Amino acid sequence: MRVVPNLYPALERQEVVISVPRHARSLAELDHTEVALIADAWRDRAAAAAGEGFGYVQALLNEGREAGASLPHSHTQLAWIREVPPAVADERTRPGDCGVCELVAGGQNVIVERGGAVVMAHPAGRLPYELLIAPADHDPDGFGDRLGVALELLADAIRRLHAALGGPVPLNAWLHTGGHWHLELLPRLTVMAGLELGAGIYVNAVSPEDAAATLREAV
Ligand SMILES: [Zn+2]
Ligand SMILES: [Zn+2]
Repeated sequence: MRVVPNLYPALERQEVVISVPRHARSLAELDHTEVALIADAWRDRAAAAAGEGFGYVQALLNEGREAGASLPHSHTQLAWIREVPPAVADERTRPGDCGVCELVAGGQNVIVERGGAVVMAHPAGRLPYELLIAPADHDPDGFGDRLGVALELLADAIRRLHAALGGPVPLNAWLHTGGHWHLELLPRLTVMAGLELGAGIYVNAVSPEDAAATLREAV
């Protein structure tokens, strides 16, 4: 595993975390040890960013050309950002008034539960099979001890998507940390068009109940 600067950074600092030296196309192909090394790298580099005064690190995964991945070899990215980005600031994730706590406590549409964290179908998924991975308890530190568990669950969720949908799936996933940390996984099975982009109204033909049932059975 290796971390290198992004050759074409869109921001001041952007790093590419190359998952493995052998050719792998997806996080789904990695074993437990390899996934754990990615968690270690994310944690180390997030600490380095904080040490240099960056207020936030956006950790993300793009897989497939339709989801913006320009390299087929499995990798993730770390974008160092000076301030907490708007998408994170806008989330209702304060202790006592936390949307993620509500979702996890509701316990609906859970697909897998492991190590104190769950994978669930998002009840208001924008696109089919939008998933949420979060710890059961309110925990702000996404780069803490359970990052390895979270990335294992992410790999597990992608394996299930591949099994259920019959092959590789273009997708984006990202970590939100600082409130109630979570990973959001957005498969890009349909194209966002004028209604989605213009009105913010998302047409999702797969209910969260159906998505959860399908992915529970797919291994
Ligand atoms: Zn919470
Ligand atoms: Zn979020």
